[in-house]
Amino acid sequence: MDTITWIVDVTTDLSTNCPQLTEAARMLQNNEVVSFPTETVYGLGANAKNTDAVTKIYQAKGRPSDNPLIVHIADVEQLKEFADMSSAQVAILIERFWPGPLTLVLPCKPGVLSTRVTAGLDTVAVRMPDHPVALELIKRAAIPVAAPSANLSGKPSPTRAEHVAHDLNGRIAGIVDGGPTGVGIESTVISCTGDVPVILRPGGVTKEQLENVIGQVIIDKGIENENEAPLSPGMKYTHYAPEAPLAIVKGNRENIQRLIEQYQKDGRKVGILTTEEYADTYKADVVWACGRRDRLETVAAGLYNSLRSLDEKKLDFIFAEPFPEVGVGRAVMNRLLKAAGHRIIEV
Ligand code: AMP
Ligand code: MG
Repeated sequence: MDTITWIVDVTTDLSTNCPQLTEAARMLQNNEVVSFPTETVYGLGANAKNTDAVTKIYQAKGRPSDNPLIVHIADVEQLKEFADMSSAQVAILIERFWPGPLTLVLPCKPGVLSTRVTAGLDTVAVRMPDHPVALELIKRAAIPVAAPSANLSGKPSPTRAEHVAHDLNGRIAGIVDGGPTGVGIESTVISCTGDVPVILRPGGVTKEQLENVIGQVIIDKGIENENEAPLSPGMKYTHYAPEAPLAIVKGNRENIQRLIEQYQKDGRKVGILTTEEYADTYKADVVWACGRRDRLETVAAGLYNSLRSLDEKKLDFIFAEPFPEVGVGRAVMNRLLKAAGHRIIEV
C-alpha cells in the first residue's frame, strides 16, 4: 500500500480551506487508516463505528486485540451518542480539560461503536484533542475516530510525522504531517465509572490538576507496583521500548560516569539520557540532553524523540537519569520505567 503524506501548515486557518484535510477525512469515511497529529503524540485514526476500519488499526500496529482504543471527538454532542455522561464529575472534567490531554473512561452505550474499539468492555475511553489538525479532521470526517498512538506496538510513541513514517510507511493509507506535537506523552486516562475517579494512566494532565477541580482522585495501584495487575488493559504491556537495552541509573553523577566507563571497557557503545543541566558532566558514546530538569514538561515533550534518536545511534546500552515523580514527572517516569522494562541500577 502506498502511504500518502499530506503536509498541513498549522499556523494557517484550517477551518476555511485546507483540501488536504478534506482528502484525509474522506479516507477515514472510506474506512481507511490515517495518522494525524494531536497535542500529545501522533494518532492512528479510523472510523470507530466500523469494525473493518478498526481492525486495520490493530493490524497496522501489531496491537494485541484485548487492548482497547481511545475514541477521539471534536464536539461533545458526538459523545452523547455512544457514552453515558450523566455523572456530575464528568461534566466538570469536560468543561475544565477539553479539548486537552485527558481521556475519560465512561459507561458505553451499546450498538453505536464497533465492539473492537472497546475490546468487548462495557466502558469506552474518549477524549477531545487540543490540536487544530485533529479537531478539523474529525469535524470534516463527522464520525468518532478511534486512535491509538501511531507507532508499531511496543515502540516509543511518535511525536513527529517522520516517526510515523518510520514505523508504518506502506502499512497505512495516509499521514497528515502537522509538525512536532506539543505535550509529547500520551493523555492521562481517568476512569469515571465508580464513586471516586481512578487514574489508569498518568499523562499530560496531572493528578494535582485533577484534584484541584474534582477533589479526591486515586491512582491505580497496578501502575506503580509491578506486582499488581493494572486496571487498564494496555498498561500491562511493555511499551515505548528502544531496541537497545535501557536502564534507569540512580546515584550521583560521578558514579554514573564510572558505570558508563565500566560498560565501555568491554567495547560496548553506551549512551546516556540526561538533561541540558548535566549534559556537560558526562563522557559517553552519545550524551543526549532531553529538555530541562527544572521544567519537566520539556522532558515530556522530548522523551520519545530522545529514545528514537538514541536508537538510531546503534548503541549497546542506554542509561537514563530518573526524574522526580511529581506533576508531569509522574508520567515521564511511568514511560521511562516501561521503556526500561523496570530495570533500575543503583550506583
Ligand atoms: P493508546 O491508544 O496506545 O494511547 O492507549 C490507550 C490506553 O487507554 C490503553 O492503556 C488502554 O488500555 C486504555 N483504555 C482504552 N479503553 C479503555 C477502557 N474502556 N477501560 C480502561 N482502559 C482503557
Ligand atoms: Mg500507544
